[in-house]
Amino acid sequence: MDLMRLARKDVQALTPYQSARRLGGCGDVWLNANESPFDNEYKVSGRGLNRYSTCQPDALIHAYASYAGVKNEQVLTSRGADESIELLIRTFCEPGEDKIMFCPPTYGMYAISAETTGVDRVIVPSTAEWQLDLETIRNRLDGVKLIFVCSPNNPTGNILKRSDIEALLEMTAGKAIVVVDEAYIDFCMEESVVGLLSRYPNLAILRTLSKAFALAGLRCGFTIANNQIIELMLKVIAPYPVPVPVTEIACQALSEQGLARMKCQLLDLNANRAYLQAGLGMLNGVTVYDGYGNYLLVRFPDAHGLFAKLWDNGIILRKSPIDGCIRISVGNREECEKTLAFIRQQLA
Ligand SMILES: *Cc1c(COP(=O)(O)O)cnc(C)c1O
Repeated sequence: MDLMRLARKDVQALTPYQSARRLGGCGDVWLNANESPFDNEYKVSGRGLNRYSTCQPDALIHAYASYAGVKNEQVLTSRGADESIELLIRTFCEPGEDKIMFCPPTYGMYAISAETTGVDRVIVPSTAEWQLDLETIRNRLDGVKLIFVCSPNNPTGNILKRSDIEALLEMTAGKAIVVVDEAYIDFCMEESVVGLLSRYPNLAILRTLSKAFALAGLRCGFTIANNQIIELMLKVIAPYPVPVPVTEIACQALSEQGLARMKCQLLDLNANRAYLQAGLGMLNGVTVYDGYGNYLLVRFPDAHGLFAKLWDNGIILRKSPIDGCIRISVGNREECEKTLAFIRQQLA
């Protein structure tokens, strides 16, 4: 029997997210998944595992709420920010009826989570400067319940104008939720829109420990929003979404010491990003776009050829959907030096 034919049609047609892990490769410089180079150590008690975990552990919620400067009841924790994307869609969108909107080039999981939940997508490309095309958005809001925007945007690295996000929140008040994906905001905290929450009840913000906190393997993310949105999502989330060891480790990462270490490491990474940007920017025919996260989008004369050369030499970067561009995660200084030196030599 052909089991493929038993699957939902949407799933039959689906191309899964091309994660860096899925794409493979083999080498010693991995700058393709916006992971942190810092492998910090944590202690796990290994006890209490006979009992189910609390759905939303108080200590973890409290720790993240203090870090973000919001109230406990404005925070939900989930299996990475990715789970939050899916929860929002399942909470707000009637399959086959309501729609989500997003603005490419941007993060791929908004589209994939909508597809796997049977929710249609309205696609409004961003402007040439990778900002929101507010006029087109306004004209295409019919049936849209959720609008996903990303700042700093993955893969372009730019920040969205705060005034545009406010205009979007106003234009959608009472009709749709604006989800601002702040997966990389820790690298430029002053750009967060968390301060807009008190004025806009239709704002939801996504956060994660995967990037600046160097915990991609932990799978711990957060939604920050007004309490009504959080309460609705709590109706949809699985009963025991947060494994006990995840809470233990996340609380250490969010402790005073953990936060101090994270801030130190992100200063280091921001300096390495500046190093890469300056070094690549000097090369003939190369354009480095200003980036605010732990990655840079870079345009090369022959991106395809260069990507393959790097790959063959154990330097694994990320192909970008933007023609002629490669996305480079910011690694430790040695990784950045190796990468820059190799590229310089190739372009010479
Ligand atoms: C990495 C990333 C996420 C997912 O984060 P997880 O918490 O690891 O699921 C979400 N949004 C963007 C833009 C990202 O780059």
